[in-house]
Amino acid sequence: MNIIEIDKQYIAGTYARFPLQLVEGKGSIVKDETGKEYIDLGTGIAVNGFGVADDEWKQAVIAQLDKIQHTSNLYYSEPCALLAQELCLRTGMKKVFFSNSGAEANECAIKAARHYGQTKKGKDCYTIITLKNSFHGRTITTLSATGQEVFHEYFTPMTEGFVFADANDIDSVKNLVKTHKCCAVMIELVQGEGGVTALNKEYVAELEKLVKEEDILLVVDEVQTGNGRTGDLYAYMDYGITPDVVTTAKGLGGGLPIGATMLGERVENLFTAGMNGSTFGGNPVACAGALSILKRIDDHLLKEVREKSAYIFTELMGAKGVKSVSGKGLMIGVECEKDAGEVIAKCRERGVLVIKAKHKVRLLPALNIPMEQLKKAIKTLKEVIAE
Ligand SMILES: *Cc1c(COP(=O)(O)O)cnc(C)c1O
Repeated sequence: MNIIEIDKQYIAGTYARFPLQLVEGKGSIVKDETGKEYIDLGTGIAVNGFGVADDEWKQAVIAQLDKIQHTSNLYYSEPCALLAQELCLRTGMKKVFFSNSGAEANECAIKAARHYGQTKKGKDCYTIITLKNSFHGRTITTLSATGQEVFHEYFTPMTEGFVFADANDIDSVKNLVKTHKCCAVMIELVQGEGGVTALNKEYVAELEKLVKEEDILLVVDEVQTGNGRTGDLYAYMDYGITPDVVTTAKGLGGGLPIGATMLGERVENLFTAGMNGSTFGGNPVACAGALSILKRIDDHLLKEVREKSAYIFTELMGAKGVKSVSGKGLMIGVECEKDAGEVIAKCRERGVLVIKAKHKVRLLPALNIPMEQLKKAIKTLKEVIAE
C-alpha cells in the first residue's frame, strides 16, 4: 500500500485531503513525495509563519530539545515563563494560560467568562454572545460557540449558553444583551473559516463601549488572526480596542502545537490553583520555538506584511474572474467566478498551494515569503482564475 492507501485505511475519515503528501521544503517552497516543488500560500493553515524548516526557529527548538523536552506544570520552566512575559509585555495583557490548540485556548476563555459572570452577577449569568458565521474550534463547547449550524449537526446536545448575533450589527448584540444574562461577547476580528471577512471598525468600537457599560467581557479569538498575520502583532491592535481576553494559537508555535489565553486586567486574578490545567500546555520545546517566533514579529516585519498584503489586493481586485477580495494583512479571501475547488486544484497542478474558506480561495502565505515567490504565485493564481 502507498501512503494515501494506508491513510485511507487507518486514519479516521474526518479529513478530505488534497491528493498529495508534503515531505520537505525550505521557507515558502515545499516539495511533495515526487520531488515536485510548490510555492506555499497555505502555511499549514496560518501556522508556519516563517515557512518550513526555518533556521532560527529550528535552532531555538533544537537547543531546548537538547536540554529537556517536557516537565509538566508541576514545575517551573524557563521557556514557558519567558514566553508569557514576552506576550504580556507586547500586548499589555496581564497573565497567560498555555494549552496546545486554538480550541483549548478558547475553552479557557469560556471558563474565564463564565467564572467572571458567576462571580460578578450570579450563577445564572453565563450566556456568551458569539457571531453568526464564526469559528471557535472543534471541542463540543467551542463548537457550541461556533455560529454555524453545519458544525452542530450530529453532535447535539450542544453546550448551553451560547447565542449568536449578526456580525457588524450592534443592535443585534444589544437585543441579546437585553434578553439574556450575558458574561461575554466573543469575536474574531477577521472571520477566518467563515470566509475571511473583517469586522467594521465602528462596529467593534461600539461593541467595546457596550461591553464596558454592561460589565461583560470582550473576548477576541485571535487563533488565526494573531501573531502578525493581519499586519499587526494582534489584529485587535489595529482596531484600537483593549480586549479582556485574547486567545491565540496557530501561528504562535511556528509549527509546533501551542495555545495561549491572555487575560487582561479585569480577569487577571480570576484563576487560582486547580481551576484549569493541561499536561502538555506550556511545553518547553513549543514555548522556546514560540518565543523565537514572537521576537521576530517586529515593526519591520509587520510593515513588510502590510506591503505584501497591499500588493496582493492590488493585483487581484478587479482582475479577470475575481468577484471580490476580502480580509486583512496576509489573511485573504478571493471570491472567484470559477468554483474555488477548481481554482485550488489547477493552482496545485501549476505549483502553487492555496486553500479554501467557504466558497472562497484563501491565501495565508508565510509572513516572510520572498517577494519574488509571492509575485510568481499570484501570477499563477491570476492566470488560473482568468481562464
Ligand atoms: C483554527 C481556529 C480555531 C481552532 O484551533 P485548533 O488549533 O484547530 O483547535 C479556533 N478559532 C479560530 C478563529 C481558528 O481559526
